[in-house]
Amino acid sequence: MYCRNCGEKLSLRFCENEGLVPYCNRCENYMFPQFSVAVSMVVVNRAQDKILLAKHAEDEDFILFAGYVKKGENAEKTVPREIKEELGLDVVKAKYMSSRYYQPKDILMLNFLVVVEENRPIKLNEEIAEARWCTPEEALQLIRKGTTAEQFLSNAIKELKRKI
Ligand SMILES: [Zn+2]
Repeated sequence: MYCRNCGEKLSLRFCENEGLVPYCNRCENYMFPQFSVAVSMVVVNRAQDKILLAKHAEDEDFILFAGYVKKGENAEKTVPREIKEELGLDVVKAKYMSSRYYQPKDILMLNFLVVVEENRPIKLNEEIAEARWCTPEEALQLIRKGTTAEQFLSNAIKELKRKI
């Protein structure tokens, strides 16, 4: 482990309430491990009876729309920005649902249920090969199984029955 500021090799030092934490002797600072934050979005129409799923060109399965939170941005801003970038649609409202830490890539995923305005045709950006409106039942069939996205989707569907 090396310092992200100066490149010095880090050593472990005891930090109160934290235990052993990587420490840079040159910067004289603790270097807490970093992780990314992203939003995962269950996109629904205004009537809240259809869910929009995404598919990448190289994949068979469908996934949820997602995007990284930019440095300095709050997650409530990330949601409409990503929906605009990926779909060209406006967000009517968004509700925070829950979060999960994705260990393999060190990403904290924040899940939102997002209602979009459908008065415009979808304009996909190049990252996404297909976007498909599905009933909740179809969405559960199409989503990649055993994933965080599947869990977020099934929670969102329970929430939709109450309307957000
Ligand atoms: Zn350093």
